[in-house]
Amino acid sequence: MRVQDSENIRGLLDKLASGYELSEQEWRFLIDGSYDRELLYHKADEVRRQHYGTDVYIRGLIEISSYCRNDCLYCGIRRSNARAGRYRLSEEEILSCCERGYVLGFRTFVLQGGEDAFFTTKRVAGMVGKIKERYPDCAVTLSLGEREREDYEAWYQAGADRYLLRHETASKEHYGKIHPPTLSYEHRIQCLWDLKQIGYQTGCGFMVGSPYQSTEALIADMRFLREFQPQMVGIGPFIPHHDTPFRDYAQGSLTRTLTMAALTRLLLPKTLLPATTALGTIHPEGRELGLKAGANVVMPNLSPAGVRGQYSLYDNKLCTKEESAEGLEDLKRRVAVAGYQVVVDRGDSRLETAAADRSKKTGNAGVY
Ligand code: SAH
Repeated sequence: MRVQDSENIRGLLDKLASGYELSEQEWRFLIDGSYDRELLYHKADEVRRQHYGTDVYIRGLIEISSYCRNDCLYCGIRRSNARAGRYRLSEEEILSCCERGYVLGFRTFVLQGGEDAFFTTKRVAGMVGKIKERYPDCAVTLSLGEREREDYEAWYQAGADRYLLRHETASKEHYGKIHPPTLSYEHRIQCLWDLKQIGYQTGCGFMVGSPYQSTEALIADMRFLREFQPQMVGIGPFIPHHDTPFRDYAQGSLTRTLTMAALTRLLLPKTLLPATTALGTIHPEGRELGLKAGANVVMPNLSPAGVRGQYSLYDNKLCTKEESAEGLEDLKRRVAVAGYQVVVDRGDSRLETAAADRSKKTGNAGVY
């Protein structure tokens, strides 16, 4: 790849940030090329500041179940990992996590888990209803994998505001190599469109450096983001888990992950972009670097300390004090040192959605 001068790079970044479609060759250069990444990160930070200033939104992540019916080849809680510790939280435990989080200043709770049949349509709807009743000024985000459209509808009716479902990869061929044959790319993408249509603020996303991922697959991810226009995008490096078939693969690179995050900020200026736990896992300052490359969300762990170690998606996942809600003061300090500020706010996407509109009507949104 030819080293280009900074004027050309700036021109290309401006083209992306202005909404123009890039050619295959231009994408390839931005992803793989040798150019000064600081130019890219700086531009992403500039665009983020235009829309969100220096605000960093915090989401309290509650990992409600480590049971999963699926067998994704990269994931530590895959069904066939007999060594994975399994737990599920009771409704009372989940509510007490929310209580702790609320006091700490969290205004979004993210309920994430493996695809666990114990969490029936009704059970989840009931839980969402209770959280919204107790904390009407908070947003509830669900991240419970692929379900029937009726489930998504019921949970939305119960008050859920947002849904996170990473698409994992927008290349059908690549999808097939990192998932068991029982899962289909088409179904996952259909779920995302359903969620969006129902009215959720919807998040997709992908891992960087997952086995068999080509540059073409990453370009497909960017094209999918452009088409789907998600309100949130989760991007983190792949990190091997020792009890999965991908144990011997290398982890995703820091620079490549930051590159994809920054490009996403330029492509979708108003999106909510977390500096992910996985990014913080591969580098001691991964999350700060993420913020400086266009990210504007962090998701500290609110799960009860006793189960944190069991929600083991990949090796060495941060689940120590620093990553937990108790480490929030420390996190705030680190965010401030990086030049940003943690705010007490629901942190809705600036992209209009039915969910944001609904909370506006009920006076619950902090932003509008
Ligand atoms: N069952 C839910 C939640 C999955 S866990 C769902 O399907 O959405 C949340 C995310 O962790 C996944 O979407 C995946 O992108 C990420 N993840 C799983 N294993 C990983 C690994 N080994 N390295 C990095 N990220 C991983």
